[in-house]
Amino acid sequence: MKDYEVLVIGGGPAAMTLAKYIGREMKTALIRPEDHSMIYCAMPYAVEGLLDPTKTMKSDSIVTDSGAELIRDTVLAVDFEDQRASCISGKTYSWERLVIATGAEPILPPIPGSELEGVTAFKTEEDMQRIIDFVDSGIKDAVVVGAGAIGVELSQALAAKKVNTTLVDMAVTVLPNLLDSDMAAGLSEELRDQKVQLRLGSKISAVKGESRAEEVQLENGEVLPAQLVVFAVGTRAKTDIFADSGLEIANDGIVVDSTMRTNIDQVYAIGDCVSFHSGITGERSAGKLATNAIPMARVLADNLLGRRREYRGFFNGAATKIGNIFAGGTGLTEAEAGKRYDTISSSAEFSTAFPIMPNAKKVSLKLIFDRENGRLLGGQVRSGEPVTDKVDQITMAVQYGLSADDLLEFSYSSQPWQSFYPAHNLLVKAAEEAVRQLDPRRDTVLNRARQ
Ligand SMILES: Cc1cc2nc3c(=O)[nH]c(=O)nc-3n(C[C@H](O)[C@H](O)[C@H](O)COP(=O)(O)OP(=O)(O)OC[C@H]3O[C@@H](n4cnc5c(N)ncnc54)[C@H](O)[C@@H]3O)c2cc1C
Repeated sequence: MKDYEVLVIGGGPAAMTLAKYIGREMKTALIRPEDHSMIYCAMPYAVEGLLDPTKTMKSDSIVTDSGAELIRDTVLAVDFEDQRASCISGKTYSWERLVIATGAEPILPPIPGSELEGVTAFKTEEDMQRIIDFVDSGIKDAVVVGAGAIGVELSQALAAKKVNTTLVDMAVTVLPNLLDSDMAAGLSEELRDQKVQLRLGSKISAVKGESRAEEVQLENGEVLPAQLVVFAVGTRAKTDIFADSGLEIANDGIVVDSTMRTNIDQVYAIGDCVSFHSGITGERSAGKLATNAIPMARVLADNLLGRRREYRGFFNGAATKIGNIFAGGTGLTEAEAGKRYDTISSSAEFSTAFPIMPNAKKVSLKLIFDRENGRLLGGQVRSGEPVTDKVDQITMAVQYGLSADDLLEFSYSSQPWQSFYPAHNLLVKAAEEAVRQLDPRRDTVLNRARQ
């Protein structure tokens, strides 16, 4: 008799979601070392002081109310043959089924000075608290490395706390994996308006200081003062305890099939620790997002409960906020899509409400299509209002393989406070432009229809 029907290693969103779905039906335990599971996405806003840091901590009752057990421990090794996990406490736990949800850990580039006090990643509760403590101690200067959503959000938070903050990235535009350069245009200025200084197209070569960080050296020779240096340059699947265990691990994580099974019998993996393919290209792709981890957990829950479901792949819808601009993207950027497909892109710009209404703000959208068959590959949105609903509409269209022609028939709603006039819709307008590029003869038909 094993200790648990399902033993889960991890306490992040993937593990917690799984526990919530199966805890009542199967004897389940989660093992995690942290005092709290975190709402990571909210941590920049705790640094900014908009939220009390305790608000970013999830309640354990999410797990325990489901009937699952929560074990505070760290797994040191697993014996797949004996179906047993050994922990740092000296305890061991046996399983009928093991679920690996160990997540990903931040990458700290191996540059001189990365061990100095004041150099940190931004992933855990401790990282958040360390940054808050540095800010509270009255530091003057910070450098954030990585202009993805996390770096952009954290650098704004630090600047709002009156820390002289510089955001550094090798890319020449901000949010390089989320937005094409045309959709990122103007965002640098918006960041500067938030008092964030930028060094784009720049690479950091060293952190300097005696025992604490004092300055950052860039490859071009520039030196920036920095008592706090935060790396937000990506994460790597946390799979060290499985080295040489026979578990199949690719460059970016544990290999699973579409039902979340690993190559080892009765062993599954979900979330950031997993290597999976894009739902668009079918090729292995990056996808370390909570919004991928949680659907994987739901798919696995159904499979463990006997309802067969498959995970289709990453689409990677994501969003952020820079100053007063909300920006998001999904699927492939034009730059990424162009490496695999002959693409066309189209765009549309309206207002978030009827232009005659007092709350109307600018909203622009870009769509990327495969020229060969008109299939939508991705899209991006910028707006004075939140964009996740629009990003999700585009994701749905990408996910279900819709083409520019299909989008022409999109049936939308309209109301003065919350959309443009009924005569127009962003998706339909961008689709019209795409259809025209895909099939120039259509131009006449579309133009005639509008007269
Ligand atoms: C600042 C920040 C902002 C983010 N914003 C967003 C966002 O806006 N939208 C979005 O979709 N995603 C966002 N993400 C990414 C998102 O948080 C991750 O994709 C998500 O947490 C992955 O969930 P997971 O459960 O797979 O892994 P994790 O959350 O990393 O959890 C892994 C768990 O496994 C535990 N573990 C690891 N090894 C062991 C071991 N040996 N023994 C026991 N336990 C172990 C860890 O301690 C941890 O509890 C953000 C991340 C950060 C850091």
